[in-house]
Amino acid sequence: QVVTRFAPSPTGFLHIGGARTALFNWLFARGHGGKFLLRIEDTDRARSTPEATQAIIDGLAWLGLDHDGEIVSQFDRADRHRAVALEMLEKGRAFKCFSTQDEIQAFRDAAKAEGRSTLFVSPWRDADPSTFPDLPFVIRLKTPETGKTVIHDKVQGDVRIGNDQLDDMVLLRSDGTPVYMLAVVVDDHDMGVTHVIRGDDHLNNAARQMGIYEAMGWDLPVYAHIPLIHGGDGKKLSKRHGALGVEEYRDMGYPAAGMRNYLARLGWSHGDDEFFTDAQAQEWFSFDGMGKSPSRFDFKKLASISGQHIAAAENAALLHDLLDFMAVTGQPTPSDTKISLLSQAMPLLQERAKTYIELIEKAEFILADRPIAPDEKAAKFLDAVSLGILSELTPHLQNASWDRQALEGELNAFAEAREMKFGQLAGPLRAALAGRSATPSVFDMMFLLGREETLLRLQDVKG
Ligand code: GLU
Repeated sequence: QVVTRFAPSPTGFLHIGGARTALFNWLFARGHGGKFLLRIEDTDRARSTPEATQAIIDGLAWLGLDHDGEIVSQFDRADRHRAVALEMLEKGRAFKCFSTQDEIQAFRDAAKAEGRSTLFVSPWRDADPSTFPDLPFVIRLKTPETGKTVIHDKVQGDVRIGNDQLDDMVLLRSDGTPVYMLAVVVDDHDMGVTHVIRGDDHLNNAARQMGIYEAMGWDLPVYAHIPLIHGGDGKKLSKRHGALGVEEYRDMGYPAAGMRNYLARLGWSHGDDEFFTDAQAQEWFSFDGMGKSPSRFDFKKLASISGQHIAAAENAALLHDLLDFMAVTGQPTPSDTKISLLSQAMPLLQERAKTYIELIEKAEFILADRPIAPDEKAAKFLDAVSLGILSELTPHLQNASWDRQALEGELNAFAEAREMKFGQLAGPLRAALAGRSATPSVFDMMFLLGREETLLRLQDVKG
């Protein structure tokens, strides 16, 4: 069975790179009927905060990346990590090292001066235990001195690292605390992780982590190190480029489904497919589709994919997500009457709205209360001439039969009779009904609002 995991360090928000790593692990697990686990790597006590852990949990929840089983705290497992280090010591795969920081520094200085490798070689590696002093010690892994470590990476291919490049890394510090590298391996092994999918900034760690698997005689996981995300200009991702927490994307009104689709396309592709569902992504997702070079974050593409998800969403689900969005962004909950109108209007609203914010903008004719306050653009349509036209129109509306087609016929006839362009009528009507210039069609708005409300709004603008 496939088991993947997302293992963030809780030192900040869930940023876009982390979210993509989580997504890839989730897609791979779900596509293989496997498990997707969540481990919080909170061993760095100074930098880990409960707020950051919560932000990660909330960010994953918003993105819809549900994990299996309990959340594992790495810090809570320190005893087990220590036990594994002692087991390696027992097996002769690790050793006690009594060298002090000063001695290590002196070793490095001398090596540098003589032009040798500055990787520390401990004099205690093969020392006789009877010579051990009564001093604090660390436990180091015995790394093979010759040969190569080859990472068979699903994305990067075979990556070879000479063992002479790998030092005998510390597993347990002199105060008995396990190092991060040990914790990762022990946790991955104990959690049954079969596939490690993570950023390629961890590729070098893989070589060192493999030494621990080897020493313990444990099966290696499959590694897939994914290239980082860059900004649109190819430079390192910064805030300006979109290196934001996922909650900021939520607040910008991108639907989670669109976000998942867009993030999946960052570094992975399936032919020319840009728009897809979760089911498709889960079925299609494979290491073959992953690129070796960094992907570029592109807000335009995000907006376009996001708009396609809004357009394709089922009405009831979209309304539900929209109301959620309004709640988390602190907008008032619409009344039941407004919610019912929103539901009826949804097919119109979801066309061409790239974000929930744009959708809400188009729904202003439903959400706003009388008297409607026109925005600056709309106000320009309410000059004396336009108000005159609206006055003239009013009796026609009092008598019109109130269905969409009849209204369309009525307004067209009205404009034609006065040799006006339809826009000369529609502009002021939009302004009066919605207080906006970008709205659904005036017929749709009038039909949905009903005769009484329409006439009241026309009355309001005449002041
Ligand atoms: N905690 C590491 C990070 O946040 C990830 C470690 C791993 O995936 O092995 O970068």
